[in-house]
Amino acid sequence: MSDPMNALAPEHRRLRIGDAWRDAASGATFAVEDPATGKTIAEVADADVVDGLAALDVASKAMTEWAATPPRKRSELLTATYRALTERSEEVARLITLEMGKPLAEARGEVAYGAEFFRWFAEEAVRVEGRYSTAPAGGYRILTVPKPVGPCVFVTPWNFPLAMGARKIAPALAAGCTTITKPAAQTPLTMLFLARIMEEVGVPPGVVNVVTTKRAGEVVSALLADSRTRKLSFTGSTEVGRVLLRQAADNVLRTSMELGGNAALIVCADADLDVALDGAMVAKMRNIGQSCIAANRIYVEEPVREEFTARFAERMEALSVGHGLDDGVDVGALIDEASVTKIDELVADAVDRGARVLVGGERPDGPGHFYPPTVLVDVPEDARMLEAEIFGPVAPIISFTSDDEVMAKANDTEHGLAGYIFTRDLQRALRFTEGLDTGMLGINRGLISDPSAPFGGVKQSGIGREGSHEGILEYLDLTYASIDLS
Ligand code: NAP
Repeated sequence: MSDPMNALAPEHRRLRIGDAWRDAASGATFAVEDPATGKTIAEVADADVVDGLAALDVASKAMTEWAATPPRKRSELLTATYRALTERSEEVARLITLEMGKPLAEARGEVAYGAEFFRWFAEEAVRVEGRYSTAPAGGYRILTVPKPVGPCVFVTPWNFPLAMGARKIAPALAAGCTTITKPAAQTPLTMLFLARIMEEVGVPPGVVNVVTTKRAGEVVSALLADSRTRKLSFTGSTEVGRVLLRQAADNVLRTSMELGGNAALIVCADADLDVALDGAMVAKMRNIGQSCIAANRIYVEEPVREEFTARFAERMEALSVGHGLDDGVDVGALIDEASVTKIDELVADAVDRGARVLVGGERPDGPGHFYPPTVLVDVPEDARMLEAEIFGPVAPIISFTSDDEVMAKANDTEHGLAGYIFTRDLQRALRFTEGLDTGMLGINRGLISDPSAPFGGVKQSGIGREGSHEGILEYLDLTYASIDLS
């Protein structure tokens, strides 16, 4: 197999600003590592504020022409991006695995998911509509005109290096906005690859800019402080989200915030246990547990606790851990050493408080940032992992005896992103749908991400939605005209 880095030529491991691929003004670079080996795989440009503002310059200059580009033309460019990503899926997937660590099969899944945002929003681009109506009192008319919000700044995390950017860039372009994306410093290569693909399919210069940097704080602050920026969309931790919301307040920016989660997965005694087990495996282990919608707490109703736990533990134990590019690997490396340490501490804390380890729980020696699939039972309510995002392959199982009890526990968190319920009782499922404080709910399903559905959270999990028809509205302002016909 060829080196995955062949997908991105050295001249494209630089800043994408306007029609140029260029070094940082300071000439600085930083190293990107393979988390499975700890080895450097590439050096990319390390932008500072000067570079960030240069990107904003071109993004704001490109705005008028891009907004005036016929929707059909914008739509065709998004379709071309979807096709190019699909045709080059293997190259992108290998690059994702190399810089992020997930198994190749999952990286292929991310490419399909990420590409689909371009197809979905290609279809939305030509369906942006206003309204014309008669005022209730008669006499005059009401006209609404949707308009692109303007240049957008995107800050994305490392866990889905393609999809988290795609679900911002695609709707923004569909709406007629120009963009500057700052990908996570640990996974900048995939976003540079996407920018290169979008250049090749003919997206005009200045519309898609990518600024890689190790100085996220200063570069993003400068972009948000500049009044030419009109929108911030951020995906990442609630902690950083709060900081950026405060900064965005100064210029009263439109914001979309996709923040952290603490999903409860609830298995009722009447559930089809085969379905619940499949769902729990996906909801827990997708992306090695490093997903904002990962099942963080697994609640199982007492009559099926023993059977579910035994069968779940057996499946977790059977997973093979290794380099994501190797055949047959189910669980790749975690993103970094800090992540492994945090997970190890959360497990130790739970055990100190009385939890029992059924599977895993021991950090391995050797290179790379690995942690084994782990199942814990008898996890007490004060264990830190029940309120922190575990963000790894660790599953705490807790039993429950009544719906009211489990609903209260599930809602006892500052987060409200996703939840999962497994039951064959429709009324019960609907009561949970109404009672759980989450933006999303899987009913007898562990996989809920879909570009045609509105993704997003309530409470401190965020503001706004990505994907679906709602996704494009995040990039549109509305002018209302009152028209006198007398
Ligand atoms: P993070 O630490 O919040 O970082 C996210 C992004 O913000 C990165 O690009 C990071 O840059 C940047 N950043 C960090 N500090 C900043 C600052 N002071 N100013 C401006 N930008 C800053 O999150 P992460 O560890 O990458 O991602 C994991 C988190 O994302 C989890 O909490 C997860 O739940 C959440 N997430 C949410 C969703 C959702 O849709 N709700 C989806 C995926 C992930 P650097 O890389 O340079 O630090």
